[in-house]
Amino acid sequence: MATINHTSQKFTLNTGAEMPGVGLGTWKSPPNEVRNAVSHALQTGYRHIDTALNYRNEVEVGQGIRNSGVPREDIWVTTKLDNPWHHRVREGFDKSLADLGLDYIDLYLVHFPCSTDPEDPAKHLPDWDFVNTWQEMQKLLDTGKVKNIGVSNFQIRHLEKLLGDPSCKVVPAVNQIELHPGNPSPKLLEYCTSKGIHCTAYSCLGGATDNPLYKEPALLEISQRLGKTPAQVLLLWSLQRGTSIIPKSVTPSRIETNFQLDDWELTQHEMEALSGITTRFKVVNDSWMPIKVFFGGDE
Ligand code: NDP
Repeated sequence: MATINHTSQKFTLNTGAEMPGVGLGTWKSPPNEVRNAVSHALQTGYRHIDTALNYRNEVEVGQGIRNSGVPREDIWVTTKLDNPWHHRVREGFDKSLADLGLDYIDLYLVHFPCSTDPEDPAKHLPDWDFVNTWQEMQKLLDTGKVKNIGVSNFQIRHLEKLLGDPSCKVVPAVNQIELHPGNPSPKLLEYCTSKGIHCTAYSCLGGATDNPLYKEPALLEISQRLGKTPAQVLLLWSLQRGTSIIPKSVTPSRIETNFQLDDWELTQHEMEALSGITTRFKVVNDSWMPIKVFFGGDE
């Protein structure tokens, strides 16, 4: 069988940058565990780390990057602007940069299309929405400290408003969204592709270890037949759909097996069987935010 290098695959963004397709997620990774997780992932071969100011572990993520011994220029680091920082983008960016101990970020994302009042996260900032935020994000590119900018959790309606606004000079390079067979979002994916926006799949394992995907007969049958773990099958399904993946783990053995994706493939029939899963659920909802972000339908 010809060698298939899924783990070294890179996706070319609309900026021309080449983003490694397999990254390590760090949401809910405790600070005292994420340092080792990041180091271990980089030593295993991962070349992409996904973090966020909101995860409150960027100091330790940065330490993990340095401890790995992998040169900075070989690593792609993605981080995100937190909701209470929308009207002070430069400050939020500088905080992530300082906490991570880096001098540039490869990809900086607007975490949610929702600006919140720093004094009261239950309030949306009056007269400030994500179009204003994007104007500030675009200015960041002039600093030379961020190579690519993008968005996260943007639905079609948000992207239409953003792209249709005269102030939008830079099309987001990436939209990082929840994508797994329980929330496949084909319309949003197709819309992003049509606009040249690459999608990264978050919660690509379906989140928690007891999530409903791990009981799906189609997934279990394919994983048993191929001799692969259900997680590996889920990850390859996402990669073969053309999305990058950022599975989270703080468990060394899982970090390793989640990266064993080379030299095998899912057939079109297997891809269709997984896409045919009808169970629907989301890992991330908007009930904790002052405005609605997810509307259903176009997801
Ligand atoms: P994932 O779908 O990556 O699942 C993570 C869970 O799966 C953890 O409990 C982990 O446990 C477990 N796990 C990891 N590997 C395996 C395996 N091989 N077998 C069984 N269980 C496994 O969920 P996340 O929601 O964390 O999403 C991934 C990343 O995406 C986040 O960490 C974050 O970086 C990003 N994200 C971005 C969001 C956004 O708004 N932009 C929102 C949500 C996520 P353990 O760690 O104990 O091994």
